Amino acid sequence: MEKLTVRDPSTGAVLAEIDRTPIESLPETFARARAAQAKWGVLRLKDRARALYDLREVVISRMDELADLIHRENGKTKVEALTMELAGSIELLTYFARRAPELLAEKEVRIGNPILWHRRSTLNYWPLGVVAVIAPWNFPFLLPFGDIALAAAAGNAVVFKPSEFTPLVGLKIQELFEEAGFPVGLVQTVVGDGALGSALIDRKPGKIFFTGSVPTGKKIMEQASRHLIPVVLELGGKDPMVVLPDANLDLATSAALWGSFSNAGQMCASTERLIVHESIAEPFVKLLNEKIQKLRVGSADADIGAITVEKQKDVYRAHLDEARAQGLRVQGGEWVEASRFMRPAVVTGASAELESSRVYTEETFGPVVAVTTFRSMDEAVRKANQSPYGLLGSVITRNLKLGDKIARQMEAGTVTINEVAFTAGVPETPWGGLKDSGFGRKHSDAGIYEFVNVRHVNRPRSSLFSMKSPWWYPYSPFQYETFRSYLKLYRRSFWRKLSGLPNFLWNLVHFLKNERRL
Ligand code: NAD
Repeated sequence: MEKLTVRDPSTGAVLAEIDRTPIESLPETFARARAAQAKWGVLRLKDRARALYDLREVVISRMDELADLIHRENGKTKVEALTMELAGSIELLTYFARRAPELLAEKEVRIGNPILWHRRSTLNYWPLGVVAVIAPWNFPFLLPFGDIALAAAAGNAVVFKPSEFTPLVGLKIQELFEEAGFPVGLVQTVVGDGALGSALIDRKPGKIFFTGSVPTGKKIMEQASRHLIPVVLELGGKDPMVVLPDANLDLATSAALWGSFSNAGQMCASTERLIVHESIAEPFVKLLNEKIQKLRVGSADADIGAITVEKQKDVYRAHLDEARAQGLRVQGGEWVEASRFMRPAVVTGASAELESSRVYTEETFGPVVAVTTFRSMDEAVRKANQSPYGLLGSVITRNLKLGDKIARQMEAGTVTINEVAFTAGVPETPWGGLKDSGFGRKHSDAGIYEFVNVRHVNRPRSSLFSMKSPWWYPYSPFQYETFRSYLKLYRRSFWRKLSGLPNFLWNLVHFLKNERRL
């Protein structure tokens, strides 16, 4: 069997050599998933929700072991493994274990049209079947775990492909579901790179939940379109933070510090563009750099962890080298311990050069932030929206009313005021982007409906109402006239409505009395 070597990004040591999943074994994987789903999907909603509580119990009891594994395989610090990956997952399980039965229960649709009141419409939600979850390496636990838990709560089976850089956490996720009592085969992790991901799509899953880069997202959507498979795409970002002139500088710089450099900046929701009012730009950058000096770069117990993936280092170097060559100022950005860690970098300079530089226009996905300035609120909004991405944005101000006004003009899936990027761990709120950041929403009440088909059933309220409808054959001039008089009742003016009513009622009575449907 072909092997995949997994390394610890903080030391470079080999963590494991594991078997890659052969592409030829996928039909068997899907058959197992289908068999498990057939039994799981018919369970009562309450029973499936109860399984989420059991899963939560398992995650909590193995919290330290999980934080340690996430740290070792991904390189993030232990605090981040706990607060950014496990905490959000536990919150998600808590919310959906309680809420999913209510959200997925059958619902009646209120129909306004009185001529249809004798009939009743209900919506019921049924599983998609076997779905595919394809995940990146930067949040190897939180992102796929949330998708898989919601998919299972909605009655689906999941074939899950973690990133080839973090397969151990991926395999652990399957183990957790099995330990919590989910049927074997319901959640299966397959190990491999993009070729395996692509082969997964050709097995025609019911839907693809993809989180990753824009180029891969495009490939996946293109391939999925050949089978007409729906996709949810959670892609990259180049998130702006607008700092207004009245901002508390201490709060603003701390927010920027955490927003830009947590998870070593390897976050789709990382603040990569700081748009600061020109009157405070200088003290802002000075204080930000002072705070950066206090951050400890290093392994498990540091503030900034390791750079997970080798190829990302080339992107950081390219963006920073290009910035220097354009005459921009780069503070920080030194490589530490054989380039396994990088100190945060702040890029400043003349707006025109900075805003055309790749460090400002393209996703860097590392501990690098570019700072530009603005004069008017309109300019701030224009600059914030001047990006192909639209995942998150933030505004820092003491004037919450103004902050809210700016937030409402920002082209982003989420905007936070005086906070940054934390709502990925708040299950009640939707997560997802616009423009090149993708589409579809995770989390929130809307998020669970991504995992189900909706079936609408319309039936008579009683068997007494099982009759032929007035729009059935044969068509007649009087039928036309009756409908015409009915549609006139939609006139805006009350008097026109009222004056049309006798005509309609007369037509209706005669229609029902004289006209026979075939
Ligand atoms: P990536 O696109 O390189 O890989 C993501 C996953 O897709 C991996 O599992 C990979 O093996 C798989 N893959 C690659 N080619 C494939 C193909 N042709 N068919 C099927 N699967 C394929 O992304 P990455 O480097 O792992 O992650 C970084 C990117 O993810 C960044 O752009 C980041 O912004 C984005 N991201 C977005 C969110 C979000 O919520 N919007 C969250 C985290 C990361």
